[in-house]
Amino acid sequence: MDVPDMTRAAARAADEGDALREFRDRFDVPGTYMDGNSLGALSEASEAAVDRVVDQWREHAVEGWTEADPDWFHYGERLGAKVAPLVGARDEEVCVCGSTTVNIHTLVGTFFDLANGGSAAAADDPGTVLVNDLDFPTDHYAIRAQLRQRGLDPDDHLTVVESGDGRTIDEARVERALATEDVDVLFMPSVLYRSGQLLDVERLTAAAHDHGAYAGFDLAHSVGVVPHDLSGVGVDFAVWCHYKYLNAGPGAVAGLYCNEEHVGTTPALAGWWGHEKETQFEMRREFTPAESAGAFQIGTVPVLAAAPLDGALDVHHEAGIDRIRAKSVALTEYLVALVDDLSDAFTVGSPRDPVHRGGHVAIEHGEAYRLTEALKDRDVVVDFRPPNVVRVAPAPLYTGFEDVYDVAERLRELHETRAYEEYEPRSGGVT
Ligand SMILES: *Cc1c(COP(=O)(O)O)cnc(C)c1O
Repeated sequence: MDVPDMTRAAARAADEGDALREFRDRFDVPGTYMDGNSLGALSEASEAAVDRVVDQWREHAVEGWTEADPDWFHYGERLGAKVAPLVGARDEEVCVCGSTTVNIHTLVGTFFDLANGGSAAAADDPGTVLVNDLDFPTDHYAIRAQLRQRGLDPDDHLTVVESGDGRTIDEARVERALATEDVDVLFMPSVLYRSGQLLDVERLTAAAHDHGAYAGFDLAHSVGVVPHDLSGVGVDFAVWCHYKYLNAGPGAVAGLYCNEEHVGTTPALAGWWGHEKETQFEMRREFTPAESAGAFQIGTVPVLAAAPLDGALDVHHEAGIDRIRAKSVALTEYLVALVDDLSDAFTVGSPRDPVHRGGHVAIEHGEAYRLTEALKDRDVVVDFRPPNVVRVAPAPLYTGFEDVYDVAERLRELHETRAYEEYEPRSGGVT
C-alpha cells in the first residue's frame, strides 16, 4: 500500500482507496481510537457470538456441552483451529484456553522440565530460562515463580539479555547469550510492548535449537496484526492473548501453541480439561494428556469469555492477515513520517524499518504522560508507557489514515500551545 503525503487531503484519498475501509463499520469505535493493542474494539460479530451462547445456555442448560451448535465441549479446540492460520500452525497445535500469564506458567514450566529429563527439580545441574530486560513484567513474574517452585533461585536460573539502547533487543546479543550460557528454554516476545520492535522469530528459534534449547514466544503484541509461521520455523511453544489486535474483549480467553513434536508431554499445570477428550468423562485417577495442544487446558473452558473471539475471528479471516499487515505497515510508516515532521521534542522510539516493527509506534516526549491525558480529553485514545512513551496503535480493521493524521495534528497543537500543562504531572499509581 502507498503511504500518503503529509496533507489531510492525501490521508483522505488513501482512506478512500483502502480495501479494508468497509470493515470499520462493523465495529463500535469510541473517538479516534489508537489503543487497539491494549483492548481491541467491539464488533457486531463478537456481540452476536456472545448472544448466541447466552441463547444456547437458556435453551439447553447443561446439555449445551453436547447439544449446542457448535458444542461447548470442544470449544477451546475448535477456536484453536480457527486461530491456527493466524500463527502458522496446524489445527491441533493451537488451543484457546487460560490467560497469557497462566499459559506462560504451564508452558515454560513444562519445557524447562522437558529439557531436564522431565523434572528440573530433580536434575543435577539445571540450566536457565533466557528472557530480555524489556519484557512485559508478567512474563518474568510467572517464570520466576516457576523456577522457585522447582527449588531454584530465579537470580541464578533466569538469564536476562540487556538492551543496548533501552528500546530494542539486538538478536545478536540473544545469540551470544545462547552461546555462552547454559540455556534450557528461550522465551522472548515477538513484538516488544513498548517500542514495538518485531523480533526475528525464525532466527531466534534456529539459534536456540543450535544450542540445544527450546524456543518459546509471547505473541501478545503481534497476533492478529503480524502473520506468523510457528510450525514452519519449528517454534516449540507460544502464548498470546486475544483482547488486543484480535478484538475478543476484556480478559478474553487466551491462546497457546505447542509444536506437534511435543504432544503427549505431561503439562506442568495439569487439569481435567487437558485430558484425552474421548475418556475425560470416565473420570479416571490417571491423567492421560490429550494428543494436541488441548492438553495444556486446565479447567473447564469459559465459554462466555471465549465467545467474542468466535465472531472476531470471522471478521479477521474475511479481511485476511496479509491485507491487515500491509495496511498496518502503511499506517505506521505514515505515522513515523508525520512524527518526524513535528518538533524535535518528539522522537520515534520504534524501529524505522517496518520489517522490524509490529503494529504500533512509540512516540517519545518529555511530557508523554500529560500529552496522553490531554489527548484523551480530546477524544484521542492512546496510552502512556513509562517513562516517556506515548504508544499509538492504528489497528488496521477500524483505523484510517486520516485518524493517524489527526493524532499527529493534535500532538503538534498540544506541543505548540503547551495545553498539556493544564494536566497534573504523573504521580505514580495506575497510569
Ligand atoms: C498483554 C500482555 C500480557 C497480558 O497477560 P494477561 O495474562 O492476559 O494479563 C502478557 N504478556 C505480554 C507480552 C503482553 O503484551
